[in-house]
Amino acid sequence: MGKATGFMEYDRKTAQERKPDQRISDWDAFHPVLSEEEAKVQAARCMNCGIPFCHGGVNWKGVASGCPLGNLIPEWNDLVYRAQYEEAWKRLSRTSPFPEFTSRVCPALCEGACTTGLHNGAVTVKEIERFITDMAWEKSWIQPNPPKERNGKTAAVIGSGPAGLAAAWKLNRLGVTVTVFEKSELPGGLLTFGIPNMKLPKEVVARRVKFLEDEGITFVTNTDVGKDLKVEELKKFDTVVLCGGAGQPRDLTVEGRTLEGVRFAVPYLTEATKRVLSGDTESKPLQGKNVVIIGGGDTGNDCVATTIREGAASVKLLEIMAALPSERANDNPWPRWPFVLKTDYGHQEAIYLFGHDPRSYLTTTASFIGENGHVTAIETMEVEWVTENGRRIPKPKAETKKVYPADLVLIAMGFAGAETYLPEALGISFGKTHATDKPGVFAAGDMRTGQSLVVRAMRDGMDAALEAAKYLGLE
Ligand SMILES: Cc1cc2nc3c(=O)[nH]c(=O)nc-3n(C[C@H](O)[C@H](O)[C@H](O)COP(=O)(O)OP(=O)(O)OC[C@H]3O[C@@H](n4cnc5c(N)ncnc54)[C@H](O)[C@@H]3O)c2cc1C
Ligand code: SF4
Repeated sequence: MGKATGFMEYDRKTAQERKPDQRISDWDAFHPVLSEEEAKVQAARCMNCGIPFCHGGVNWKGVASGCPLGNLIPEWNDLVYRAQYEEAWKRLSRTSPFPEFTSRVCPALCEGACTTGLHNGAVTVKEIERFITDMAWEKSWIQPNPPKERNGKTAAVIGSGPAGLAAAWKLNRLGVTVTVFEKSELPGGLLTFGIPNMKLPKEVVARRVKFLEDEGITFVTNTDVGKDLKVEELKKFDTVVLCGGAGQPRDLTVEGRTLEGVRFAVPYLTEATKRVLSGDTESKPLQGKNVVIIGGGDTGNDCVATTIREGAASVKLLEIMAALPSERANDNPWPRWPFVLKTDYGHQEAIYLFGHDPRSYLTTTASFIGENGHVTAIETMEVEWVTENGRRIPKPKAETKKVYPADLVLIAMGFAGAETYLPEALGISFGKTHATDKPGVFAAGDMRTGQSLVVRAMRDGMDAALEAAKYLGLE
């Protein structure tokens, strides 16, 4: 339970991030780990609340609450407070296969449901998770543990994002011989080629992939299943788990969309990461360029930070929704996830560099303007949200048209679902569970659920693996 009076004695304190002026000229991680002393004090704030909602992982009327992995948070908080770090690691690793990812990128659904957070700032669960996990890697408590015996069953996992990695890990631990197929040149999915290096350093992903290889999993990269590899080849596996992500970006159908320089966010972020991985951390391809980003979610924020590092002269971010309130609204009570305004790392950097928040709310795109086939400007309009036929829709206000210079426009409006060529080639459709309508073929992660979070993809991958194991007669 931590210290009985800890929540009254200590305030929430997070690790000191590198300041924007220090971090915008490199691609290194900006969020450090808590020191041992800080971690113990923060863990002491866990108050033994009786019913810890933080590890519940439930959905209340469509709103998330608590950790989807069911992480045993109060238990490891107590162990950290008592300096029993290896025991804390053992407890954390019972429920989470890759906490080095979530402790860096998770929005921390647990903290939104923390009882201490009701009056004095939630326990810094995510940072304590990071403290335990970093120490576990440092002290070599994390060691490959290949199955003692193989059971002769084989599985193909398609896609190596967090869902695919988690499904492969679980099946492998059950003695199944697992091959992961990945169309990109490196495994990791959006962990590698989506989330930027400064938020999730790529060596953290590579270290886990190497660990999984050492446990006996085979990764086959540069192989697009359904294109490079015919789906008939999958017949030689006893089961198949599809974890191909939600690869269809949501598009904008306005005038000028086909102009050069108007592009989707993820391919742009992928190119930037590839450049960093090649060792080129100095070049500034956006020097002197005006950038407009459409979409205010995680991806939009990552684009702000990335374009700043690439030398953009100005960065503007358009969001069609209204700004969230600074505190929970009455219809968004604890312990549900709080929908409150967050000024994320990219926004902070833009504020430092340009002197103002890059976000414009209640704003939509009217058209793109170009010269010689390349975008030069974007025309925007404010919107008003109205209810028509029972549906909330954004109504543009024609009199509010504005034009901003734009040499690069990044569309970061989320994803419309999975790409269809693989399910079509397999002749399957997804259902409500992990099983598809073809026996032995399962699906997990964003491909099955639509765009979501790393933590949910991990959970879904493990759940699909258990279904596949049951199909193989292993459970
Ligand atoms: C820019 C960005 C930032 C994000 N930031 C965060 C964040 O900070 N925190 C968070 O929790 N979530 C974040 N998310 C969401 C999170 O990354 C996803 O929900 C998660 O990665 C989904 O995992 P997945 O394994 O289902 O799919 P993905 O990570 O998309 O992986 C799917 C993999 O399948 C491969 N693939 C697809 N089809 C085939 C095929 N036919 N053959 C072979 N391989 C194939 C793809 O190449 C890809 O590698 C972010 C998303 C984006 C786009
Ligand atoms: S995985 Fe996310 S929700 Fe779960 S304990 Fe870690 S930070 Fe919290």
